[in-house]
Amino acid sequence: MLIFTYILVLVPSVPVLIFTTYGIGGWIGSVFLGIPYLISIVNSIRLVMQVALTDPGIIPKLKSSEINYNKTYNVLYRKTEELTRDDKISEGRNFFSLKQFKLSPEDTGASDDNHAEMLSFCKTCQIIRPPRSFHCGSCGVCIEVHDHHCPWVGTCVGRRNTRFFVAFLFWTGIHGLITAILCGIFFAVKSAEGKPLTLVNTVTF
Ligand SMILES: [Zn+2]
Ligand SMILES: [Zn+2]
Repeated sequence: MLIFTYILVLVPSVPVLIFTTYGIGGWIGSVFLGIPYLISIVNSIRLVMQVALTDPGIIPKLKSSEINYNKTYNVLYRKTEELTRDDKISEGRNFFSLKQFKLSPEDTGASDDNHAEMLSFCKTCQIIRPPRSFHCGSCGVCIEVHDHHCPWVGTCVGRRNTRFFVAFLFWTGIHGLITAILCGIFFAVKSAEGKPLTLVNTVTF
């Protein structure tokens, strides 16, 4: 599906890049409008790739010796300043680490924090996972701080790639707005020239 997302960005953008910028201001328009517009296209494509290629927060299907699977726990994310350098280092292929959490068995009453949440169990993966994790049927894994599975990008949006996803939505929205404005100016210029707006007139130099 990633290829369709590229097509949706490129199909309207490439003709605007080639014909519209030239139609507005000749070769000067091609350079001064075309180059920033090309950067905007590349930026949208780059952000889609960044969402698709970043681990969304896959929770490895490993049993942890730190957890007694017969107990329930209160769990909290540690604050960044509470993490040591070792805690931040990724564990192998995945970036998930239980060291990111404060775990306290519920029955000890050790947690005095009312915001603590429970660990949950994924029957499919057979693992214990932190709050806001969900199992994605399409990806076949549990994702930490799961937002949704995005078919347009072909991956889940979760803890590690949400910021790229939001950036993609924002900058592609801006790109769409710029495209609409350039088209508006282009048709205004062509109308002022008094030529009928046929396809041939709009794409010939
Ligand atoms: Zn799962
Ligand atoms: Zn998914």
